[in-house]
Amino acid sequence: MQTIDQALAKLQMSRFRAKFHLTQKDRDYITEKGMDTIRSHAENFIATRLAPAEIPNDGKQTPMRGHPVFLAQHACACCCRGCLEKWYRVPKCRGLTEDQQRRIVNLLMAWICREYEKTGGFYGKEKDRRYADFGAETEKEDGDRHD
Ligand SMILES: [Zn+2]
Repeated sequence: MQTIDQALAKLQMSRFRAKFHLTQKDRDYITEKGMDTIRSHAENFIATRLAPAEIPNDGKQTPMRGHPVFLAQHACACCCRGCLEKWYRVPKCRGLTEDQQRRIVNLLMAWICREYEKTGGFYGKEKDRRYADFGAETEKEDGDRHD
C-alpha cells in the first residue's frame, strides 16, 4: 500500500487531478468551521455518497464546487467508484468497509490541510497532530491491503 505522501505525489502527476485547488470561499469556510467539522463532513459524504455498493448516479454524485471536501474528492480521485477502482483498485459494486472509508477520509483531509496551508492558512499544532496520525496509520496498515 502507498502512503498518503506517495498517493498525493502520484495525483499531482495527473493534469486533471492537479488542477483542483481550494478557493478563497473554501478557505474561509474551513477557517469558520474548523478542521474537525470538515472531517466530519468528509466522513458523512463518503459514507453516504461513495460507500454504498449500489450508487445509481455513480460518476456524477460529486459536485465540482461548493464544499472543500468535494474538491478534495476530485483532486484525490475519490469522487466516484469508477475513479476509486481505476486509481486504487477498490472494486465497484461492493460496499466500502469502515477501514476503507477512514483511509479515504484521511487522504482527503491531508489534501485539504496542505492546500489550506499553501494558500496562507495556518493549522499549527492541529495539523502536525493530524499528519502524525496519517503516517502511523498508513504504515501500520501496509501489510493488509490490496492482496
Ligand atoms: Zn470519479
